[in-house]
Amino acid sequence: MTPFTDALPGVTFENSLRFARRLDAEDALRDFRNRFHIPVVAGKEAIYFCGNSLGLQPKTVREAVEREMLHWEKLAVEGHFTGRQPWFTYHKQFKEPLGQLVGARPHETVVMNNLTTNLHLMLTSFYRPTPRRCKVLMEGGAFPSDQYAVESQVRLHGFSPETAVVEVQPRPGAYTLRTEDIVDQIEALGDELALVLFGGINYYTGQVYDLEAIARAAHRVGARVGFDLAHAIGNVPLRLHDWGADFAVWCSYKYLNSGPGGVAGAFVHEKHADSDLPRLAGWWGYQEKSRFQMQKGFKPMYGADGWQLANGPVLLLAAHRAALDVFAEAGMDALRRKSRLLTGYLEFILRTDPVLRQHVEIITPADPEWRGCQLSLRLPETGKAVFERLGQEGVIADWREPDVIRLAPVPLYNSFEDVYRCGEILAALVRTQTGK
Ligand SMILES: *Cc1c(COP(=O)(O)O)cnc(C)c1O
Repeated sequence: MTPFTDALPGVTFENSLRFARRLDAEDALRDFRNRFHIPVVAGKEAIYFCGNSLGLQPKTVREAVEREMLHWEKLAVEGHFTGRQPWFTYHKQFKEPLGQLVGARPHETVVMNNLTTNLHLMLTSFYRPTPRRCKVLMEGGAFPSDQYAVESQVRLHGFSPETAVVEVQPRPGAYTLRTEDIVDQIEALGDELALVLFGGINYYTGQVYDLEAIARAAHRVGARVGFDLAHAIGNVPLRLHDWGADFAVWCSYKYLNSGPGGVAGAFVHEKHADSDLPRLAGWWGYQEKSRFQMQKGFKPMYGADGWQLANGPVLLLAAHRAALDVFAEAGMDALRRKSRLLTGYLEFILRTDPVLRQHVEIITPADPEWRGCQLSLRLPETGKAVFERLGQEGVIADWREPDVIRLAPVPLYNSFEDVYRCGEILAALVRTQTGK
């Protein structure tokens, strides 16, 4: 078995500590691990495979936040307009790094609020149902917050979620969706379809969706299309502008390591930059030049900035900026290359260890093109017990009902040795649980 030789030509994986250490020695990104605080469990560095839920803290974040604390202390209100990075324009420095990550032009992104808040703001503008065209198509088993957001928006417009929300389900016996099934469903709904809302990566299965094909199909039937990139941003390459997505939203505390409840972001395609789309407005979305004239009558800024409601949370923005700097230094291409190898190595161990092969089912797509750095493992008999012991053994992963353990080896701070050791611990626990 020689998986993923595209990532490391001519090399066959081996399930050994020596081999894992060799991969670490050859890893050009290995030093980035030292830029992060790694949690300690029972006196030892944890194997942290939960970056898909909360990314680790970059060591530079504390200083960045303290710098703004000091500005507040010394400059108070003057901090809005003086200092190295005045708060009045603080949010503008994110256009470049976020544009890189999502494939957007500067005026197409904005950093603000939380993900679910941004989703509501975008749905308010882009879900404009009529009695004939009122349906929303989503992935079956979308993240609950997205389901609740859509359900409540549908009700706000006087429609019923039972009929207006349609979910694409996997075929019998499958866990993931086929692009052709998504496209077929879009075409079948045709002019009843108002909006397609999809994750970039499904949080449960780790499947990457073909956003380009989805956007094309949605537009072909005259629907709008938006993406939730919570699990995709900083994980897989994205090209929102070229794909023609109408909008997208994301959070910053998963792969972007910007801290719990960190400030989120949104994308609005250039084609809507100057539009008079209905929206919920606030003073920070008002044209900047005349904002402080405090006039009646809302005039939106050009582009995604026109959806801002309020002045930005500078302490959170400072953390976000420091985290994105680490990201930019590593570079998305190099991270993706390592990610494919790291996740491929985890998959190799799960598929070749005799006990794991028998008792663990990987429900994430096997093709590296259609997954990020997460593998979702189904352990029907032993799941919960194994998961609880994993934590005690220093592997920080997460559990999703009814029987799934999600493991996310993150290329910025996880090592091949982490992957090897995780496999070793997992195999021992499954062996104990199954009495093999
Ligand atoms: C993590 C996640 C969220 C979280 O929403 P918040 O508003 O940040 O609490 C929403 N949607 C998806 C798909 C997620 O993975």
